[in-house]
Formats: sequence, structure tokens, C-alpha cells
Amino acid sequence: MQTERTTIAGWANYPTLSNATVFKPENRAEVIQLIQQNDALTLRGNGKAYGDAALGQTVLSSLGLNKIRHFDQENGIVDCEAGVLLADLLPMITAAGWFFAVTPGIRWISIGGAIASDVHGKNHPTEGCFSHHLIDFELALADGTIVTCSQEQNAALFWQTCGGMGWTGMILSARIQLRRIASTRMQQRTVRLAKATMQDFVQTFEENRSTSYAAAWVDFSRPTLRGAVHFAEHDTQPHLDNISNDVSWKVPFFAPNGLLNSLSIGAYNEYYFRKNPTASQVVGFDQYFYPLDAIANWNRLYGARGFIQYHFCIPQQNAVVALDAAAALIKKHGETPFLTVLKRHGAPHPRAVNSFPFEGYSLALDFPRTRGMAALIAELDALLWPLGGKVYLSKDAISDPRMARINPASFGDAKFTSLQRQRLVVP
Ligand SMILES: Cc1cc2nc3c(=O)[nH]c(=O)nc-3n(C[C@H](O)[C@H](O)[C@H](O)COP(=O)(O)OP(=O)(O)OC[C@H]3O[C@@H](n4cnc5c(N)ncnc54)[C@H](O)[C@@H]3O)c2cc1C
Repeated sequence: MQTERTTIAGWANYPTLSNATVFKPENRAEVIQLIQQNDALTLRGNGKAYGDAALGQTVLSSLGLNKIRHFDQENGIVDCEAGVLLADLLPMITAAGWFFAVTPGIRWISIGGAIASDVHGKNHPTEGCFSHHLIDFELALADGTIVTCSQEQNAALFWQTCGGMGWTGMILSARIQLRRIASTRMQQRTVRLAKATMQDFVQTFEENRSTSYAAAWVDFSRPTLRGAVHFAEHDTQPHLDNISNDVSWKVPFFAPNGLLNSLSIGAYNEYYFRKNPTASQVVGFDQYFYPLDAIANWNRLYGARGFIQYHFCIPQQNAVVALDAAAALIKKHGETPFLTVLKRHGAPHPRAVNSFPFEGYSLALDFPRTRGMAALIAELDALLWPLGGKVYLSKDAISDPRMARINPASFGDAKFTSLQRQRLVVP
């Protein structure tokens, strides 16, 4: 088993934790031994949560559990260990005419991480979260016993683990139901909005409720908002491309702090706005689902100081008021988010108590970590809390603990912990 003493961080490179001990077991016997020998462990997949979710002094990495145990091509069921990445599965399943029913906007995450965050995609209103398509998973508990959880078997533990941020135990393996596809191409329709308000964005989503996939980019770098909403459906013309995990560009080292500022972000946004007129086109999976994966280590563009992703969900009835007020607050603080994504969400599964999305809208905003960032986040939290807002723990590092709307104490045994779990415990 590999063991390393190192500095760890999430994708946003803030916070960082030095001198962490990272164990990388290669089989379940080693996992159980580590669980029994340690009083406190932090579970970690591929480290793509933005903030402090997978940070802790003693880390149990699942990346050594990387076997694809079985792929049932007839029925589209994958059985794999928890350290397998979506990227490991993607070429194999698409070649056989299958795809993930729910995928986040990144392929470099582990199956364990996908379950612990109960990730969602651009089709949340129709397909829900990752948990909706999980047949079952095996979970190693704090005393070292292994249980199988599904919606029928150990159902309470199943639902507490989905979105439970690794606090119930270590997911060892899972069986996932895939969706049939005829093609690895998407019919994409873009609606570009110039001089828009948040009401315009929401109305555009509402007018296209029957479309399977939808997500919007919002440009905050100008006095008036503008942006583009991308809608899509799976193409039905048979055509399966070879999907590869190659990257076009790599950011080799951290850029100077401050490279991404209102000027550079404004210039990029101008380019992106021009590149996305109102139009329809056929695009590949890489372009529609994973555009950011084309550039490896793009997080380094923010510099070693890192960045903050503020990702909040707001109930349908307060969506426009909250989004308008958040946009005004961001302007008042003079901060400019770089990447922004607005999505519509549907009603959650009634038992998915720890999953992030609920019926309404979510907005994800990537801010360079400037000196004023903590004050802005505190004001955004204060604004959104009474309107029913909630932040996504997979992105969070600094929000007011109540914004998570989750109680770590309800998870009982605290053997599986993290800087995040400790931060959320309100004395
Ligand atoms: C560019 C980018 C785009 C993203 N887009 C989306 C999106 O569209 N939708 C979305 O929902 N999310 C999105 N995310 C967030 C990402 O999908 C989640 O944070 C995911 O959990 C990361 O998986 P990971 O393997 O890197 O896990 P880590 O970051 O290592 O860990 C995440 C959490 O899972 C727990 N965990 C990891 N492995 C296990 C295990 N084996 N057993 C139990 N708990 C475990 C950890 O303790 C931690 O709480 C995005 C992230 C990035 C960087």
C-alpha cells in the first residue's frame, strides 16, 4: 500500500492542508485494517471537490480501488470499485452505446465521489441526481463491517450516504444503471441574451421546460448582464464516436495571482459571447458535457492563492428575487466571477435528504480569491438564507455553516470526518 505525507487541497486550491498522511489501499482487506486502526479518517476520491470536503490530517484514498469488475453490455450496468473515474468508463460505455444517465461537467471524478456528493448534471429536472441511477453500493462502516445498500436494502443508510460527503463510511464499489444512446452527438440550441436581467434567463429556461438538457452562462463583467442558454437533446441518428480522454491544453504551473481580473475576464467573456450566437448545431459529447476537460489544470489560472466557487440553490418562488439581489451584491462589491453556470432543478427524490438540488435554480460562480471575497460570501449567505438558499458542500470552503442545511451530528459516529465536517459543527 502506498503511503504519502503531503500537502493536499481541493480543486480551488483553497484551503490547503500540509503534512497530511494519505493512505492508498489497493484492496478491501487493507481498507478495513486502516478503518479499524484509526480513530479519524477523511475519505478522498480524485480531489475534485472545490473546497474542504476531502481534506483531513489522515486521508484514506479510494484511488487504489480501481477495478472495473463487470460491464453488462446487454443491460447497461457497470459494476466497479469506488476509485474508478468516470473517465475510465467513458470510452468503454459509449463505444457500446451507453452513457451516464447523470453526469457532472467533469469526467475526472471517482464513483465514490459521485455518490458522496450525489452529483447532478444539466438534466436534473428529468433525471435527478446520480443516486437515482444507482443499483447498489458496498459501504465499509466505522467498525469495519461491510454492508450493501440500495433503495430496498439498508435504504436509510443508502439515502444518508448519497450526498453524505463521506461521513457514513467508505464506499467500496457500486453498480450503476446507464442510459442507452444511439449517438455520441448532441443537438444543441443556443439562445443568446444581450442586455438581460435574471428574469430573462429564468423565463428562457421556463419556456423550454420540455428540453432534456439546459444550462446557461451569465456574463457578470459588464454593467448589464448578458449570456447564453444552451439547450440540448441526444441526437437520434446512429453515430458512435471514439471518445478519448486526451486533453488539448495543459496549464503547466500556477499563473501569477491576479491574472484573472475584471479586465482579462471581460475580454474572455466578449470572445465567448461572440462565439455563442442564437443558433442550432450538432456538437460532440466532449463539447457539450465536458468543455472544461479540454484544458488540464485550468484551476492554476487563478494563481496559487486559489479561488472560491460559490454555488447556491434557491427555491423556484424566490429565484428571480434572489438571483437579482445576488447579482446586485456582487456588483456592489466590485468582484467579477469568471466561470458562471445557471441551471434549473426539479423536485428531488423525497428520500434524498442530503442531495444538493431542490426545485428551483442554482447558480455557480467562480471568484478569484481576492481580499474582499470573505466579506462578499458572508453577505451572499445572509441574503440567501432567509430566501431558502443553500450552498453545495462539494464546492464550499467558507460559507456560514447553516447554509449547508445539513447537520453533521445526525450522521452519528464521527470516525469519518473532514475539515468540512468539523467546520459545520455549530457549538
Ligand atoms: C470542473 C468541475 C466541474 C464540476 N461539475 C459538477 C457538476 O456539474 N455537478 C456536480 O454535482 N458536481 C460537479 N463538480 C463537483 C464534483 O463532481 C464533486 O465534488 C465530486 O464529488 C468529486 O469527486 P472526487 O472523486 O474528486 O471526490 P473528492 O473531491 O476526492 O471527494 C468529494 C467528497 O466525496 C467523499 N468521498 C470520496 N470518495 C469516497 C468514497 N469512496 N466513499 C465515501 N466518500 C467518498 C469525500 O470524503 C468528499 O466529501 C465539478 C467539479 C469540477 C472540478
